[in-house]
Amino acid sequence: MSQALIVGSVALDTVETPHGKVDAALGGSCSYASVAASYFTDVSIVGVVGEDFPPEAIRHFQRRGIDLSGLETKRGGKTFHWSGYYTRDMNQAHTNTTELNVFAEFHPKLTEAQRNVPFIFLANIHPELQLDVLKQVRNPKLVALDTMNLWIDGHKQALTKVIERVDILLVNEQEARQYCEKVNLIECGKELVTLGPKTVVIKKGEHGALLFQKNGIVYLPAYPLEKLKDPTGAGDTFAGAMVGYLARLGEVNDENLVRAVNVGTCMASFVVEEFSLNRLLRIQPGELRARCQKLQDMVRLPSLVDGTLDDVKLVAEATV
Ligand code: AMP
Repeated sequence: MSQALIVGSVALDTVETPHGKVDAALGGSCSYASVAASYFTDVSIVGVVGEDFPPEAIRHFQRRGIDLSGLETKRGGKTFHWSGYYTRDMNQAHTNTTELNVFAEFHPKLTEAQRNVPFIFLANIHPELQLDVLKQVRNPKLVALDTMNLWIDGHKQALTKVIERVDILLVNEQEARQYCEKVNLIECGKELVTLGPKTVVIKKGEHGALLFQKNGIVYLPAYPLEKLKDPTGAGDTFAGAMVGYLARLGEVNDENLVRAVNVGTCMASFVVEEFSLNRLLRIQPGELRARCQKLQDMVRLPSLVDGTLDDVKLVAEATV
């Protein structure tokens, strides 16, 4: 039985970065997230594609063992198509066009088995569709949510309804600022955890991630990568890996959440090395482990409260 259920876009993307261009390549939040999660657990997806969706892409999902019984193919329809570009600042995607196509009329319908899946990831898609899925699941152990600027701009009310009902909210720094209408990310994170989610992850691209809970904040660095070709899907891969890994561990606690963010970070470092899902589909045995080890070795924070700070020359009574 599948342990992780993922709903989101299954797309054809046209993407241009300073390192090249792809046309109608496999993409979509659900595609990246489900493939990432499939390295850790059994995954089932809910989504829709058109008749133009390439059979080769279906075979990629099948080879990863992903359950496609909830992936509908709409007769005569065209697959969701996103076209975007990145300039030198690869932390910021610019959208040229978003063609919803088959998603415009989509109503997710979970199979009986999907309704009982314990770990749910609502990847980026219209918040009304995310709500629709939430209404159908029975007693999930964990629900994680991703979104984007488009929905914060135009559908904030529906998005807020979803946020109130999930356990983990993942947003990037621009989205956090946009939603909260505040500049300071610490303030944003603290506000977002009051809305409902027990955990909020604010992703800062190459600068790592901040994990907020009611009782504190954890800062986690990104994997140090020298060559980056296409950042598309990094957020979805991060989130999909995080949920898949938590499903593998079975228990969601503070320590496992921190581990899951680190694993998500390392998985996302692969996807950006090539366009589309090309690298994500070809992670070799041992590669993920090596990156997780390198990330762990890289972070050294010695104790700073070991006595060496006692009696520092404070100027409590100085007048300036
Ligand atoms: P990320 O880079 O992780 O934020 O996600 C990139 C993916 O999101 C691309 O593959 C797109 O197909 C997908 N995407 C872009 N816009 C939308 C949208 N409005 N709804 C759903 N998915 C989208």
